[in-house]
Amino acid sequence: MFQNVVDRKQKTNALQVKPERLWDSLMEMAKIGATPKGGCNRQALTKLDKQGRDLFVNHCKALGCEILIDEIGNIFARRAGIDNSLPAVITGSHLDTQPTGGKFDGVYGVLAGLEVLRVLAENQIETEHPIEVVVWTNEEGARFSPACMGSGIWSGNLSLTEVYNTTDKEGLTVGEELDKIGYKGKLICKPRPIKAAFEAHIEQGPILEKQQKQIGIVTGIQGLRWYELTLHGKPCHAGPTPMEDRVDPIQAMLPILQTCYDLAAENGPWGRATIGDIQALPGSPNTVPETLKISIDLRHPKTEIIEIMADEFSQKVEKLCLQFGVDYQLKETWRMEVTEFAPSCIDAVFSSVEQFGYSSMAMVSGAGHDSLYVSEKVPTSMIFVPCENGLSHNEAENALSEDLTAGANVLLHAMLKLAKK
Ligand SMILES: [Zn+2]
Repeated sequence: MFQNVVDRKQKTNALQVKPERLWDSLMEMAKIGATPKGGCNRQALTKLDKQGRDLFVNHCKALGCEILIDEIGNIFARRAGIDNSLPAVITGSHLDTQPTGGKFDGVYGVLAGLEVLRVLAENQIETEHPIEVVVWTNEEGARFSPACMGSGIWSGNLSLTEVYNTTDKEGLTVGEELDKIGYKGKLICKPRPIKAAFEAHIEQGPILEKQQKQIGIVTGIQGLRWYELTLHGKPCHAGPTPMEDRVDPIQAMLPILQTCYDLAAENGPWGRATIGDIQALPGSPNTVPETLKISIDLRHPKTEIIEIMADEFSQKVEKLCLQFGVDYQLKETWRMEVTEFAPSCIDAVFSSVEQFGYSSMAMVSGAGHDSLYVSEKVPTSMIFVPCENGLSHNEAENALSEDLTAGANVLLHAMLKLAKK
């Protein structure tokens, strides 16, 4: 799709972010909720979340930004443009972490945005369109479910009232906790005019590192289908019952599972198949199972292909169950449609990468992000940078300063391009 730019050396004297300042701001944020193993535990709407938010807000205020907080606590730090009637160009991510999370997931996207604001301020650059850096509330979904709460309400996918009443394990509600930390804002939680949205993020997978690329130009987010497959057998004794007299659901299951892996391989390299759970009932070593429950997760970034995978899978299930005389139910339990990011944003990222001569590749995101919801409402794309060993949602999560810097430079220039009239 895109040519890879192999030269890692920058070939530009363009405006750039300050690597040490970006790194220091990441390490400063990482102190809030730091864990002994070097990670972070800064879950949504806790005292620590408040401290992280306050730190970000204070930095933005020092740069002269206006701070807007909406009903679910999403924070928008707004830097005025030359013409403030124009729609804003925004960037951002989340500051909350998993209980054993790292220093970069989400935080990088917010602080890369802060770094953009700092570069613009110190160089006294005026943009035609206003620029905003956003902190979305509770992306992780670790303390309060579901994930991507802030962007979910903002985009109209979740109801504010229901979310306010959502409780954590202690029975505390989102509404009360938001009040307690002082981030239940007055701004209505819905999109204002926005020209473009970007999110910089660590990849959370191993592909960039393996391919030795510094920037992932993210073109979309995988679509997925979840299934619960139930196969019914006839329980019988493992010893006396001849093999040909059995209705054994395991026999049907084996080629069905192989079909899933084949579908992923045939539709590589982006096809995915995961069998995450298998339960046999009654679950006795010397009885043919009466019931098998199997969970299947199929993914692909192209709508046509995920549909082909889904069709072939259900046809194969029917054929194989008939062949082995096994009754079955196949239930689709969840589906997420493929997200394709906006060409205008992808192009802005691509030309910024070229400008610096960073090595890059086009890729899709395997994980969900706030950008998934944001992209339903405004033109959006993402910028990925490598993380060590592809590790994320882990205290050992790590990234190189030079890669984080490259991602922030790309973000800066992608935003500048779209902040022009
Ligand atoms: Zn994240």
